[in-house]
Amino acid sequence: RLEIRNLRRFFDGRAVVDDVSMQIQAGQVTCLLGPSGCGKSTTLRMIAGVEMQDSGEIYADGKLICDTVFRVPPERREIGLMFQDFALFPHLSVADNVAFGLKGSKDEKRARVKELLQKVSLSQYIDEFPHHLSGGEQQRVALARALAPRPRIMLMDEPFSGLDNRLRDGIRDETLTLLKEEDAAVLLVTHEPEEAMRMADEIALMRSGKIVQQGAPYNVYTRPVDRAAVGFFSDTN
Ligand code: ATP
Ligand code: MG
Repeated sequence: RLEIRNLRRFFDGRAVVDDVSMQIQAGQVTCLLGPSGCGKSTTLRMIAGVEMQDSGEIYADGKLICDTVFRVPPERREIGLMFQDFALFPHLSVADNVAFGLKGSKDEKRARVKELLQKVSLSQYIDEFPHHLSGGEQQRVALARALAPRPRIMLMDEPFSGLDNRLRDGIRDETLTLLKEEDAAVLLVTHEPEEAMRMADEIALMRSGKIVQQGAPYNVYTRPVDRAAVGFFSDTN
């Protein structure tokens, strides 16, 4: 379970993330949807611990992991990351990429790697190097890598944006199934309303650093709070 309270971040005197609060339960996907520059990635980076907030708190499974004085370092937050520009290590095999964040004996790691590659249907590539794989396949390896250490929280920043439309639907569905199986609390950033409608248990609409509306996809879609919220679902977004 992820909870953030009153998160704020200023750049050059401007509040880029402005009093953002939300809760995501284990096994639930919240999609953060909003125009370019509204503060989505900055929000995720603060939760991941690679960016410091100016105020507010972050809790994982009810435990404080970060406020303005106390700070658990990123590598000890048990948070899985899948970012668009967070590529595979080109010099490591698929197996070593997936095993990268894992602890335990060699056998234990190998077993977990095999399990995950099976889940993303890529067992046959276990000893290949990333450049051998298509973009979609690499994305699935990245997903396997992110989930391998059994993170309680998963942060995904436009993870499918590099893929063509044909591939994207399949990978979205596969990803969703896997995320549900692993029971993580998922915060997924997207530009695309369709992606949010398809994947989310909840949608949070963000504009100029603020969450302007949050709720079940159907409710947000059919009962937008204002004209700007309607705009999120139009082609102009
Ligand atoms: P996109 O959809 O284009 O990825 P976003 O919602 O993820 O946009 P952010 O990357 O969070 O947007 O950026 C929000 C705002 O904060 C932008 O105006 C950006 O220029 C600014 N910003 C982000 N990081 C920094 C930084 N390190 N220094 C100064 N300004 C920054
Ligand atoms: Mg971004």
